Amino acid sequence: MALHIPTLLAVSVFVFFLMGLLTLHAWHRETRERPLAYLGGMMLSATLGMLLVSWRDHGIDIIPIVIGNVILLLGAALNWTAIRVFVGRSPSVPGMLAGAVIWLSLCLIPAFYGDMSARVTAYSLLTVGYGVLTALEFWRGRKHLEVAFMPALALILLHTVFYAVRSVTDQGLKPDHSASGTVSGAQFFAFMLFESMLYVIGIGYMTLAMVKERAELKFRAAALTDPLTGIGNRRAFMLHAAQKLADSKRRGETAAMLLCDLDHFKNLNDTYGHPAGDQALVAFSQVMAQSLRKQDVSGRIGGEEFACLLGACDEQTAVQVAERMRLTFSRLPMPAPGLLSVSIGVVTTRESGYDLSRLLSEADEALYGAKDRGRNRVLTLRQLYLSLTDN
Ligand code: GH3
Ligand code: MG
Ligand code: MG
Repeated sequence: MALHIPTLLAVSVFVFFLMGLLTLHAWHRETRERPLAYLGGMMLSATLGMLLVSWRDHGIDIIPIVIGNVILLLGAALNWTAIRVFVGRSPSVPGMLAGAVIWLSLCLIPAFYGDMSARVTAYSLLTVGYGVLTALEFWRGRKHLEVAFMPALALILLHTVFYAVRSVTDQGLKPDHSASGTVSGAQFFAFMLFESMLYVIGIGYMTLAMVKERAELKFRAAALTDPLTGIGNRRAFMLHAAQKLADSKRRGETAAMLLCDLDHFKNLNDTYGHPAGDQALVAFSQVMAQSLRKQDVSGRIGGEEFACLLGACDEQTAVQVAERMRLTFSRLPMPAPGLLSVSIGVVTTRESGYDLSRLLSEADEALYGAKDRGRNRVLTLRQLYLSLTDN
């Protein structure tokens, strides 16, 4: 099938332009997402570059050969920059200009300027260079990128391989054949236009998806984090504790719940001010984090109330952990030594079962038992019941 190149050119220019506008619109809506601005810039550069390189057969070679290709190479550099910025690095201006500068320098050599196949090879190799740099950005950032980036990486690699093949196989499109579509150069040129359109649509869609996915992850993390202490909030605790309990039940392991409430906290606020109270809350969250293992679940579930769920933990160990937390907190020298204390209620799944609300309400009973007995102490539900039956 003979493809009509002028039609394909017109379609690709419109596709690049539309994709560029849509990507810049998405950037404008989420102005902090700079990768979208660079990517939109790449698409508009591709639009202009494509228009200029098609400006053949008019006797002004400098427009398609020099200016058109320089703009296309700046587009490839913007594509690299979009991904570089996405993975958290700052743009490299020398790197962005390098492709254009190399091209301009080569164009100063008359033998190169007059040899279409040398120009195709050099242009393709520069595009391969930017493709490799783009792929390397993903590879370098792979450990901290939490989004699905493999489809975009695969697309970039395919695009790069395409230009690597082009650098050794394509002889270029002779100007007088550009409209006929009957020679092999024209077939390759037509295929290249298809590839460019698919690449621009694919990379636009995938980058937008990655940007959205990351924004969602950020909002999700914010919805689960207590802004004062930086630890999990009530919602996070309920979510993760329920999962941990289900795990413990499946494994037949005992889990322990510690419910902690700072003592006379209202007095602390009233006497030393709200900022001192805030400082004490942060200090307690740090004591708690230091006393727990990585796999334990904890969170600030109310104003001055904190909860911990310890997996594979019996009552004796849970009490030891709670005692350590209570002592460490009471020894902190802020806002004045001896002012901070915490009461902790302890229950385990052995007596309360694996239901989260039941564990919380029974830990609350033990906690209020500890408050009744003078505060600054750890009390288990079992000890509470024993003392009640003794009386
Ligand atoms: P108890 O020993 O019986 O637990 O007495 P308490 O004063 O600790 O308990 P109460 O429930 O009477 O007071 C809790 C106080 O915690 C009241 C509230 O102003 C304070 N509070 C809640 N959230 C925050 C916060 O984010 N920062 C500060 N500074 N105070 C808070
Ligand atoms: Mg309270
Ligand atoms: Mg309190």
